[in-house]
Amino acid sequence: MTQIDEKLEPILVEVLHRNAGEPEFHQAVREVFESLGRVVAKHPTYIEHALIERICEPERQIIFRVPWVDDQGNVQINRGFRVQFNSALGPYKGGIRFHPSVNLGIIKFLGFEQIFKNALTGLPIGGGKGGSDFNPHGRSDGEVMRFCQSFMTELHRHLGEYIDVPAGDIGVGKREIGYMFGQYKRLTNRYESGVLTGKDLAYGGSRARREATGYGATYFVERMLGTKNESFDGKRVVVSGSGNVAIYTIEKVIAFGGKVVACSDSSGYVVDENGIDLGLLKEIKEVRRERISEYARRKGSGVEHVAGGSIWDVPCDVAMPSATQNELTGRDARVLVKNGVIAVGEGANMPCTPEAVSTFQKAGVLFAPGKAANAGGVATSALEMQQNASRDSWSFARTEDRLAQIMNNIHDACAETAEEYGAPGNYVLGANIAGFVRVADAMDALGVI
Ligand code: GLU
Repeated sequence: MTQIDEKLEPILVEVLHRNAGEPEFHQAVREVFESLGRVVAKHPTYIEHALIERICEPERQIIFRVPWVDDQGNVQINRGFRVQFNSALGPYKGGIRFHPSVNLGIIKFLGFEQIFKNALTGLPIGGGKGGSDFNPHGRSDGEVMRFCQSFMTELHRHLGEYIDVPAGDIGVGKREIGYMFGQYKRLTNRYESGVLTGKDLAYGGSRARREATGYGATYFVERMLGTKNESFDGKRVVVSGSGNVAIYTIEKVIAFGGKVVACSDSSGYVVDENGIDLGLLKEIKEVRRERISEYARRKGSGVEHVAGGSIWDVPCDVAMPSATQNELTGRDARVLVKNGVIAVGEGANMPCTPEAVSTFQKAGVLFAPGKAANAGGVATSALEMQQNASRDSWSFARTEDRLAQIMNNIHDACAETAEEYGAPGNYVLGANIAGFVRVADAMDALGVI
């Protein structure tokens, strides 16, 4: 593990102490602190004005009961969260996650990452995150709708297009956003399009929002490969996950000439040496909401389905972890390096463990951290807000062009910042410093609030 600067060490100890029992939040905070030593040496005001302590403390944390009635008539209780972390740059912005693993520490880690990610986009959005331990798997549409309505019945009083603008994340897609928007509209009697993003095109969504996270991550990695005169063209690629991020990463990798040979879900992974059949994958995951084993069953011989195990055992040139946090371990990283991986791009939030990240960096593998590489989703959410505010709707090409431009800018900001701080090629350091400086300077200008 990298040394923490001696001026930062006591601040980190205090943050870990007052947020006991939140390992993912600790991990995210420590990673940023590891990058900040060089910044505070150059700019002591960040310490003098307590900007680092302030950034680690959420502005507001909301925890609430979500009661709902299942199809059998039983009352179910879940817990809802919204952490409004930082609004120095704009209204709180960040997704909502529905997954049984959700707890306050997970939402805080995601919210913390979101602050810097959103700052990196260069767009006027603060950082926040929310969610619930509700498990949508195996629930009927009616159950999901009643859950979403109950969730929004409590959350709506904390939202607004100038206050806090949620979107989707794991377990929350356009269906859930639709149910939540409907309930918000009914409770407030306001057609406030800009209060949620990731909306369906039928009522104020943005073209290319669905594709944005995966496309954006692929644009970022393509540009990163370009710094070494490489590209996706002809590369063997493994993309973990098979949700929204993974599917549109696969689509863009194929467009750039790469071949994706494996993808996964929580039940296992599939290897298709002919290249993943995107049409079939979309049908299974987006339409039928089935398990990934269905892909192997439908394809028949030649496609391997491995239940459990690690998808990172599949040799590849480029790895795009796009499932969930800490899915790629130190052991996985060593296997990937041994198999000759040249670049890794995080499509998910914090999918690589700290040991995995340092393994890649020591081996000279190009490594794109999630808060930079997966910022295309939230950036396009900000473009959705822009379209809603101007009561306009852009073409797919215009929106995708803006996305590509934003991703290239983020890439270059990370690369230049790493260079400026004496660590060329270290995108982790570049992303953390560039994001931090933008937020800290805005906070400093606003006084002690
Ligand atoms: N959940 C996504 C993320 O992790 C998107 C957030 C948004 O669009 O607000 O960045």
